[in-house]
Amino acid sequence: MNFAVVLPRAWRSPLVRGLSLLCLALGAATPAWATEPAVRAGDELAQLEYDARAHPVEVVRKLEGLLTQEVAPSPRRLEILRLLTGLHISLAQPDAAESLLQQVQDLARQGPAPLRRDAEVASNCLQGDLARLQGSLTRADEPLEEAMRLLDDSTAVPIHMSCLVIHASVEENLGRFDEAARLTQRALRLVDRGQPWRRSELLSSLAYTYLRAGQRERARHLNSEAKVLAQATEDWVSLSEAATVESILLTDEGQETKALQALSQSIQYARQAGDQFSVAMGLANLSDHYLRQGDYRQAFAQAQQALPLARQLRSSEIEQLADFNTGLALIAMRRKDEGLPLVREVLDQQRRADEVVAQAEALADLAHYLEKAGYLPEALQVYREHRAMSEQAFQRSQQKALVELQESFDAERRKHERSLLTDDNQLKEEALRQTELRFKLWALVMAGVGMAVLLLALLHRRMKATQKALHSVNERLKVQSEQDPLTGLANRRHFQRLMAQCEDAGGTLYLLDLDHFKRINDNFGHAGGDAVLIEVARRLQAVLREEDVVVRWGGEEFMILVPGEGGEPAELLAQRLLTALASLPVVVGPDRVAVTASIGFGSFPLQPQQLDVPWSMAIDLVDAAMYIAKTQGRNRAVGIRRMASSDLDAVARQMQDLEAAWRRDEAQLVEIHGPDVVGQTA
Ligand code: GH3
Ligand code: MG
Ligand code: MG
Repeated sequence: MNFAVVLPRAWRSPLVRGLSLLCLALGAATPAWATEPAVRAGDELAQLEYDARAHPVEVVRKLEGLLTQEVAPSPRRLEILRLLTGLHISLAQPDAAESLLQQVQDLARQGPAPLRRDAEVASNCLQGDLARLQGSLTRADEPLEEAMRLLDDSTAVPIHMSCLVIHASVEENLGRFDEAARLTQRALRLVDRGQPWRRSELLSSLAYTYLRAGQRERARHLNSEAKVLAQATEDWVSLSEAATVESILLTDEGQETKALQALSQSIQYARQAGDQFSVAMGLANLSDHYLRQGDYRQAFAQAQQALPLARQLRSSEIEQLADFNTGLALIAMRRKDEGLPLVREVLDQQRRADEVVAQAEALADLAHYLEKAGYLPEALQVYREHRAMSEQAFQRSQQKALVELQESFDAERRKHERSLLTDDNQLKEEALRQTELRFKLWALVMAGVGMAVLLLALLHRRMKATQKALHSVNERLKVQSEQDPLTGLANRRHFQRLMAQCEDAGGTLYLLDLDHFKRINDNFGHAGGDAVLIEVARRLQAVLREEDVVVRWGGEEFMILVPGEGGEPAELLAQRLLTALASLPVVVGPDRVAVTASIGFGSFPLQPQQLDVPWSMAIDLVDAAMYIAKTQGRNRAVGIRRMASSDLDAVARQMQDLEAAWRRDEAQLVEIHGPDVVGQTA
């Protein structure tokens, strides 16, 4: 399972909580809470908001008590309702949140006039927050835009600020980092001088936004500012968050040891804050870190520490992560019989919860550690399960992309209709004015009609322009949906559209998977990894011809289709691909990174019987060959020359263990070695 990042929370903000696990203390035993000097004396609700960061469940209880005392519609009742709804959303309790939201909406409709506007703003923001929790960012965007429209200087500051923070988180997750940063900066301007903790948290989340936007320098600078502020007030929660962001920054730079220190520090601070959830999450993350570092004993120990805490907090997410890491650490220590059942149990839970993507990722990890510990047949089996699951995850994400596309199109259309409506109102007013004029002066009536005609012409032009813009947006989306944004190559969706044109595979297929790419990311940073992927794409294109198809198949995997027969022999091209990749290092800043790949390939129809095989089977075959290339030592290609099968069932059977079929001479494979490695190995 991937390193679950605990992300900054920025003032009870829902920041990225929907995407990763949340750092909230669930049901933690309440220590004596430090009285926060930064909250103004007498501002009870601000104090509760401050406390909620580490003790949300207790604060929910207190707020519920306060709500029963505050029956009459008042700004205080609105604020209590807003805080409660927000807390239920961040505790992932949508039903409770929804019924409270109803009460905020009642205030917006029937409350006393001065309260209505604030209630309307708050209700729109909370609706956006709830939609985000329920997984639709595009649906979250619309009420938030509406809230932004209603906001002004008279809006109560806490409502104003929470809207900005929620909106920033949605924009960030939609990948609109500039907009997210702009909104967080607006929130920063609203912060009271006397609230350094809030300032610190906003700075940490801004730093994270900049990191995601690729502006590392700025991110580092902002986060150090956050750290200094948090240190000055000894606010453990914001210190813990600044340390978490620091650890993410360091991981991104490939400084694993320092990242580890920052993460341990963050756990320490969370302990001091009494923020049990962050402690448990931190421990689980720590075990993940050690796994990646190959320190399995430590990985095991940390996961074991996280486990009882997770159970006590009733957090199934952390419990799963801890069980999973325990299992992987055991497998890596060659204690498969103890480790595998733990991992399988987590996979089962994921299957029951229908978490396809998480399952695919977990299977990839499992295969990796099985292989590492030398359990090769088991690794092969899991590797296959991973393929099948990835395929399923891919289909799902494709469907989701379509739904999202439709949603964003509908939102565009609604916006367009709104603007037409405004124009229509203007037209009506204009017509009214003209009727008045008609009674006064005939000549002016004529002029008025002229004006209406002019307006109509303008309106018509605008409509056409908007339609054209929408059309070009759709065209662009279609191209984008088949293109990989990082490398500019076609993506898997494009390949699938090509495959749909005929049932059986034709030509030579190469599946290429970069070797030890995780290490490249670990040693040269994720941005370094990206640079390598871009250069690999360029080198592949340079070797291939115009009519060959090369697609980014997934993370660090590429699929190549060379159509037809009779061109360059398949083995020669395999050799050229290996050479193009490995004979020159890839320059990443000051580093010269050695890059190699393992390739599986085969020509279709299958020789010697000219057997037609469907695309899906052809892909599985080259995948199995690629896996052999991996297990034989990487930096090589394994090609399927012939298979002594006369029908597809026999092919399927032999594919189950291609290596064994090879040994039995039922399949004839060819192995081609890559050149000697040049450059720094990761
Ligand atoms: P192997 O030799 O067995 O293939 O090992 P590996 O490390 O290459 O394989 P593994 O599948 O374990 O790891 C692939 C890594 O590729 C994991 C993932 O973080 C990374 N990755 C996937 N997509 C991207 C991307 O777009 N950019 C970067 N930088 N890394 C990516
Ligand atoms: Mg891979
Ligand atoms: Mg790889």
